[in-house]
Amino acid sequence: MRLLTEAEGPAVAIENAEAKADVIIVCEHASRRLPAALGTLGLDSPALESHIAWDPGALDVARFMADGLDATLIHQRFSRLAYDCNRPPQAEGAMPVASEIYDIPGNRAMSSEERQARIEEIYIPFTSGLRDLIAERREAGRTPVLVTMHSFTPVYFGRTRTVEIGILHDSDSRLADRMLMAADRPDSAYIVRRNEPYGPADGVTHTLIQHGVKNGLANVMIEVRNDLIRTESAARVVAGFLMGLLAPSLADLR
Ligand SMILES: [Zn+2]
Repeated sequence: MRLLTEAEGPAVAIENAEAKADVIIVCEHASRRLPAALGTLGLDSPALESHIAWDPGALDVARFMADGLDATLIHQRFSRLAYDCNRPPQAEGAMPVASEIYDIPGNRAMSSEERQARIEEIYIPFTSGLRDLIAERREAGRTPVLVTMHSFTPVYFGRTRTVEIGILHDSDSRLADRMLMAADRPDSAYIVRRNEPYGPADGVTHTLIQHGVKNGLANVMIEVRNDLIRTESAARVVAGFLMGLLAPSLADLR
């Protein structure tokens, strides 16, 4: 079976491909678009527009950062409800049957053909697109640095989250440590914490492990509370803050 039509275009988008910086910005949850073949997955519009479908604002921040750093940006063009590209195919969360307080009826009782089509048409192009991008850079004698950009909901299961920006890492914390050090000042514009509101134990470091840790590349996952990036101008401010943490950290890594 085919999932995506010709008109829907490729699953993965790469912007600023010829960028000079070593940083590659990754946005797995950039889009809430569902492949037409999946309909609404049985969800109503509020759910389809909510954080369960995508990371609101994350692509805006990622674009401002790609622009400011002269970095390449790679992002997924379809919703994580169809396939969550920060999860391996065997993970339950790859094609979740529930997310936070929402049930996802269309992801229950999927045929193995449908499951396979989602893996092959959404996940594989994304993960191999990123793999190839990294390989090209390394062949050219460059050392890529992986920065993945996400956003999280301010209220989760009815509880308000106080953390504003999470700096997440798996076993390689080189870049995260430096960014956290740079953020640790009394006049910091945001509340920044390590491995919050999630951490490696929650299975959110798939991209970091697969493309960063396994290649020995410095890497970090950034989570921004989505109420702080509701508008483009707000996203620009947060991107500026994050670049202010990244720049000295990258310099120190070198
Ligand atoms: Zn995300």
